[in-house]
Amino acid sequence: MSRSVPSSWDDEADVVVVGFGYAGAMTAVAAHDAGATVAILEKMLDPGGISVCSAGGLRIAADADQAFQYLHATNAGTTPDDVLRRLAQGMTELPDMARELAAVNGAVVGVRESPANYPLPGYETFGFVYIDDLPGFDASSVFPQVRGSPQGARLFKVMLDNVAKRGISVRLATPARRLVQDADGAVIGIIAESHGRRIAIRARRAVVLTTGGFEGDAEMQRQHWQIKPVMSAAFRGNTGDGIRMAQAAGAQLWHMWHFHGSYGFRHPDPSYPFAIRTKRLPDWLPGKGLREDVRMTWIVVDRSGRRFMNEYDPYMQDTGHRAMERFDPVTQRYPRIPATLIIDEEGRKLYPLGAPTYNERGLSMSWSRDNQAEIQSGVIRRAQSLEELAERIGSAPSVLRATVERWNAMCGAGQDDEFGRPPGSMVPIRTPPFYFAELWPVVSNTQGGPRHDAEQRVIDAFGQPIPRLYAAGELGSVFGHLYMSGGNLAECFVGGRIAGRNAASLPALR
Ligand SMILES: Cc1cc2nc3c(=O)[nH]c(=O)nc-3n(C[C@H](O)[C@H](O)[C@H](O)COP(=O)(O)OP(=O)(O)OC[C@H]3O[C@@H](n4cnc5c(N)ncnc54)[C@H](O)[C@@H]3O)c2cc1C
Repeated sequence: MSRSVPSSWDDEADVVVVGFGYAGAMTAVAAHDAGATVAILEKMLDPGGISVCSAGGLRIAADADQAFQYLHATNAGTTPDDVLRRLAQGMTELPDMARELAAVNGAVVGVRESPANYPLPGYETFGFVYIDDLPGFDASSVFPQVRGSPQGARLFKVMLDNVAKRGISVRLATPARRLVQDADGAVIGIIAESHGRRIAIRARRAVVLTTGGFEGDAEMQRQHWQIKPVMSAAFRGNTGDGIRMAQAAGAQLWHMWHFHGSYGFRHPDPSYPFAIRTKRLPDWLPGKGLREDVRMTWIVVDRSGRRFMNEYDPYMQDTGHRAMERFDPVTQRYPRIPATLIIDEEGRKLYPLGAPTYNERGLSMSWSRDNQAEIQSGVIRRAQSLEELAERIGSAPSVLRATVERWNAMCGAGQDDEFGRPPGSMVPIRTPPFYFAELWPVVSNTQGGPRHDAEQRVIDAFGQPIPRLYAAGELGSVFGHLYMSGGNLAECFVGGRIAGRNAASLPALR
C-alpha cells in the first residue's frame, strides 16, 4: 500500500486491471462493455500467464442448484455459500459467454457433457466448453514462447482479439508494485514500473488484481506448504505480487495451503526452469467407472524402494503430489521426495512419459514419442536389472525386487490390494532393461490469495470489503479443499465478468 498519494499521475483509466491472463482479459472486456475506460498492466514481455499454456477447458453446468451442491460439498466449508452460488450460476452462463467472445474471430465453440471429478451431490450436471477450432490460427507462430495445448492457446487468442477489438490500453513489461490508497483506505491507483521508471496510474473507479498466484515464488511456498521443494510446471511470472499488494491494503488471505499439482520430472540441466508433468491420463470417477481402457506404464516408489500411493488418483493432475507430503520426524527427511518412477522396456515403447508446458521465451523443449531422447538427456535413466536400479536409487535390492514382484502378482490378479489403483491401468514391470526417473512435487497453479466476496470485492482481515479493490482468477480462488477440473478457468471468466462490471459501475473519483 502507498498511502502517500502521488502529486501527479502518469496515466489514468476508470478501471485498472493488473495481470493479462484469462481473468485479466475477461475483467477488462467486461469493464469496457459496461462503459468504463480500462488499462491493463502486465508484468512480462508477453501476455498470457499460465492461461495461454493451459488445456483451455472451462467448467460449465446445466443446473445452477446442482452445481452449487457439488461446489458446496467439494469445498468442505472453506468458502461461503453465496460465493459458490455465484460461480455455479455463472457456470450455466459460460457456453453463451464463450460464443459471444468467440464471435470476434470466428472461433468454434465446443460444448460437451462431462461429470465432475468426484461422485458428490450434483456431479452429473457438469460439462466443458472448449474452443475446438480457430480457422487460420497457428499457435506456434502467434505464441512461439508457449508450449501447451492447442485449446488453451486458441482461447487466449480469442481473448487477445477481444481486448484488441475494444482498443483497451495494454502496457506490457509493466509490473505493478504497490496499490495507492486514500486516507479512507479506498484504492485509487497503482504504482508500477516501466522501463526502469516508477509510474503512477490513477484508477478513477477501481483496481482489479488478476495477477495469478505464487507458482514462481519459492519463499512464499516454503512459508505456506509443508511439502517441499515444489517445482512450477509452466510459468515464472506469478510470484505472489497481487497477494502482497492486497495484504498491504489489509486483505484477508484464504486457501494458501491449496495448490493444483501432481508429480513430475526434473530436467537434469539446472537451467531448465520448470518441472515436466507426466503424461495426462484421463480422469476417472470413483465408484463410477475405472477407465479400463487406460494403461499406466509406471509405478512410483519411495526412497526405500516401496510403493506408497495409488499412482493413478481419480484426478492425478490435481492430487498426485499429496501422498508425497509426509515428513518423517525420525529420519528428518521427506522419504517420498524425490520419489522414483519405474517402467520396463515394454512401458518405454508405449507412449511419451512427459508433457512439457511453458510460457517462457527462449525455451525449446518437447518430449520424444519413444522416450529415447529423454534417456539420452538423462531425464530418464536405464538399468539392466532391478538390482542395479535399486543400487542407483539407494534402496535395498531385496526391497525393490519384492515391491516389483508383488506389483506383478497384483497385475496378474487384476487388483491392487495396497492402494486401489484401477485394475485396467495396471501394467507389469518385468522386461529388461528397466528405466527410472526422479519424481518431484509439481505445482500447476496455486489457489490461495486474497479472500473475495460474491461480488469479487477483496475482503479485509475483519470481513469488510476494501473499497474499490477487486480480485479475479486464481488469485484467491474459491477452491479451498478439493479442486474441480476446469474450475480455475470457470472462475477466470465468471469472476472476471463480475469484477469488471462491478468495478465499472462504481462512481468515478473526481
Ligand atoms: C498445464 C496447465 C494446464 C491447465 N489447464 C487448465 C484447464 O484446462 N482448465 C482450468 O480450469 N485450469 C487449468 N489450469 C489452471 C489455469 O490455467 C490457471 O489457474 C488460470 O489460467 C489462471 O488464470 P489467471 O488469469 O488467474 O492467471 P494467469 O493466466 O497466470 O495470469 C496472471 C498474469 O498476471 C501477471 N502478473 C503477475 N504479477 C504481476 C504484477 N505485479 N504486475 C502486472 N502483472 C502481473 C502475470 O505475468 C500473468 O500474465 C492449467 C494449468 C496448467 C499449468
